[in-house]
Amino acid sequence: MSYGWWGKILRIDLSEGKITQEEVSEKIYEKFIGGAGIGAKIIYEELNQNLSPFSSENKVILATGPWQGTKLPGDAKWSAMSKSPLTNTYGESAGTAGFGINLKRAGYDALVIQGKAEKLSYIYINNDEVEIKEAQFLRNKDSLETFQILKRGLNNPKVSIAAIGPAGEKLVRFACIVIDEHSFAGRCGIGAVLGSKNIKAIAVYGNKRPSVSSPDKVEELAREQRKKIRNFASENGFTEHGTPAAVLSAAQTANLPVQYWREDSWDKAEKISAPNYTRVLKVKPRACLYCPVACHRQIEIDHPKKYALKGAGPQYESLSFLGSNCLIDDVKAIAKANDICNRLGMDTISAGACAGFAMECFEKGWISKKDTGGLSIRWGKGDDLIQLLEKIGKREDIGDLLAEGTTRAAREIGQGAEKIVAQVRGLDIPAWDPRSFFATAINYATGTIGACHERGMCPSIELGLLFPEIGIKEAPKFFDPSGKVDICIKSQNLSAFFNSLVICNYMVDGGGMSLTEILECFRAVTGRDWPINKLMEVGERVYNLLLPGRTSQAQHQHPDPQLQIQLLPASFPQGFFLYREGLPSLFQAQPFPHLLYFFQQEEVLKSASPLS
Ligand code: SF4
Repeated sequence: MSYGWWGKILRIDLSEGKITQEEVSEKIYEKFIGGAGIGAKIIYEELNQNLSPFSSENKVILATGPWQGTKLPGDAKWSAMSKSPLTNTYGESAGTAGFGINLKRAGYDALVIQGKAEKLSYIYINNDEVEIKEAQFLRNKDSLETFQILKRGLNNPKVSIAAIGPAGEKLVRFACIVIDEHSFAGRCGIGAVLGSKNIKAIAVYGNKRPSVSSPDKVEELAREQRKKIRNFASENGFTEHGTPAAVLSAAQTANLPVQYWREDSWDKAEKISAPNYTRVLKVKPRACLYCPVACHRQIEIDHPKKYALKGAGPQYESLSFLGSNCLIDDVKAIAKANDICNRLGMDTISAGACAGFAMECFEKGWISKKDTGGLSIRWGKGDDLIQLLEKIGKREDIGDLLAEGTTRAAREIGQGAEKIVAQVRGLDIPAWDPRSFFATAINYATGTIGACHERGMCPSIELGLLFPEIGIKEAPKFFDPSGKVDICIKSQNLSAFFNSLVICNYMVDGGGMSLTEILECFRAVTGRDWPINKLMEVGERVYNLLLPGRTSQAQHQHPDPQLQIQLLPASFPQGFFLYREGLPSLFQAQPFPHLLYFFQQEEVLKSASPLS
């Protein structure tokens, strides 16, 4: 008997209309744990390296791990994987809310969606009953309308719904999956892959209890840890102010994207950061299922009428990409722009990056009103941003080009536009500045999906989050390369483990849960008394399987560690270290197998991006 897993994957072939259940052996779980690990294995073994992300052969994998369904803190998280239409290589994202817990409780460790439905459809999983249902009535509905219509129609208040918006239907390459109105599996355009398969939504409800090794112990640990984390997050203000509080500290540590990375600090940061954010947007903390932290923001705007809304408020990444990145200091306008992205179903990081990039191109005269359908795209103008986002989600005028993502759009625009795009392998750099954070820079350059802060927790560690159990005992120094390679490797392996487990990072970062406590919970769930290095080995295995450039059957091609970012403002000349060709010299000091793999291949640095 395997504890913590069902040993069962649900596979839905939309072309064949076939629904099957597959057994998974215990050995596989021992090697890959679940979540991103299982997804990595399926993608590695089943996807042909040359397939187009929008072809019916591509697959979407939504996976849980031993954590889900246990009520242990952070069990709301789950992993989504596919070949990304944005980067043309391995794509991974994560969602929360109630979807993963319901999928697990329905009796499945993972759901694999393949093929293509003839008509727009949705999938309904109600424990053992699984149906593919026609969804023409949801055509062009935004993600929140889709949620409400389906929830009413299914007549099940506990059902969880992962949906795409119009952007996913229109194959915007950074379309996201919107879960239960307030969670977003944003990165890599997996929403567009669902759109290409004619899948508008997946609704799931489950009420089974996965078996665990020590049920009483798991219950006790869940109760204790939830209480401890709730108190910790409440005392440090995380529950009250959430991630929006990070804007101000990011500005103070030269870490904030400002004017599409021209600057890294901004004197207006306070206006959009919490606590101002909390007060102006009348925030109420909102929690994913069973979460003791409640980092999500429920906001309400009455005035001005054009920005009126009630719903999910922007998190740090959205706030900075739609705010400081576009020089917009009106937090209500940013919240409205965020709501539009949510409804259309677009990743706010890439959508905000597209907007900042377009503003710079407009300012330089590389694009004009002729391209934009008469719209001015000016720095600092919230209404310009809102109209531009609508155009991107609907693929209108310049929006059609920007819907291809910054890297492809820059190639089309030419005139030097390619030089200003901040991306790694086509994935826009998130709101943690690699010019300030060197471990983060290495992580971006070598990450499994491109520039990502969730796969490799380097920004948190560089801001002082410690993991003494794996030798990270003191906060690293800013603008000093020493020790950064080691931090990067450890944090990449640790993240791969967390994303395989699957646990929400905020239980650790903001919630105060230690690795030792996670191990104790893992033991109570699975019955496996593994030391930390064994779990880190699993993380390394998963990371290595996903490493771009792996040969064999992996779908990756043309490894490209290109880290492209504009030069720093004069006050931070150290950033030159991180300007493309500077990367190898930065890393020479320490051995780094992941990087050596890249840098032994001289041509890699010069190679074009694999995007086609
Ligand atoms: S911390 Fe935030 S993202 Fe994580 S489970 Fe809780 S509410 Fe969801």
